[in-house]
Amino acid sequence: MKTLDLIVPCYNEEEALPIFYNTVVPIVDGLADSAVRFLFVDDGSRDKTRAVLRDLAEKDERVRYISFSRNFGKEAAMLAGLRATNADYIGIIDADLQHDPQLLPEMLRAVSEEGYDIAAARRVDRIGESKLKSGFSKAFYKIINRISDASIEEGAQDYRIMRRKVVQAILSMPEYNRFSKGIFSWVGFQTKWFPHENRARSAGRSKWSFGNLLTYAMDGIVNFSTAPLKISLFFGSALSFVGIIYALYIIIRTLLLGSDVPGYPSIFSAILIIGGFILLFLGVLGEYISRIYMEVKNRPNYIIDETNIIPETDEKK
Ligand code: UDP
Ligand code: MG
Repeated sequence: MKTLDLIVPCYNEEEALPIFYNTVVPIVDGLADSAVRFLFVDDGSRDKTRAVLRDLAEKDERVRYISFSRNFGKEAAMLAGLRATNADYIGIIDADLQHDPQLLPEMLRAVSEEGYDIAAARRVDRIGESKLKSGFSKAFYKIINRISDASIEEGAQDYRIMRRKVVQAILSMPEYNRFSKGIFSWVGFQTKWFPHENRARSAGRSKWSFGNLLTYAMDGIVNFSTAPLKISLFFGSALSFVGIIYALYIIIRTLLLGSDVPGYPSIFSAILIIGGFILLFLGVLGEYISRIYMEVKNRPNYIIDETNIIPETDEKK
């Protein structure tokens, strides 16, 4: 019998969790040839999420949970889940039922019978999302696929089931800054995509603000591409070239026609343009350096406060 672990990141999901559990259990009970376990990762919730998880774990021995000491973000929660599992197939699914659990049996079949290594959901519509948000999202995928070494499927979601070897590949990437959409596609492997419709949240609120999303997009680009550094090199050299030509022109002009006092506007605008570019590209450099700084410090991605996973029994297998 093969095992399937479902990793569920949860942040303030006290209302959504019971609904999630009651919806997903009947579906996984119908999976004849796989033993399913839950691996909830409570990402430092400030509501009763941890208590709800303790209750579930007491009632159902398939429920395991990890609780962080504070909120570390969904990326950290997924990483903790991936590290804690030793199952043959590993799934990741949101707690709010926006990821349709009815897809699970079909996704499992893709990896267990059809020979795929990854079954992943891809969003086909953007209902319930503002024009601005989907516009930005489209632009993001266009930019990142043009400049980075990993190509990211548009609308790819974190909803997926992977074989053990894929998870091992993901865990072999030691970076601290984890942009999972990029990591998932960087490792490669055969993926079967499942079109998936956006559903309304079962309960609770989304934790993403527009600012979060901008930072996320920036992370995606800087973590998987050095193109912005090359762009600044290009602009910088183009600008200095123009500057040198202009200086030569002035020198020759002065030699031929004598000096003329007017010319402040051009000097002033040149200073502004060059100064602006320098600041802009210092900013780009800063983005990379701040990431190098975080990598070098080598801090853990999360701190576990409480868990019902007993390491020995999980190690054996
Ligand atoms: N989540 C998390 N840590 C966070 C934010 C979110 O573990 O800091 C979880 C959340 O509980 C949910 C999933 O990640 O299961 C997706 O979050 P959300 O529904 O807020 O994002 P959206 O669906 O709006 O993209
Ligand atoms: Mg959601």
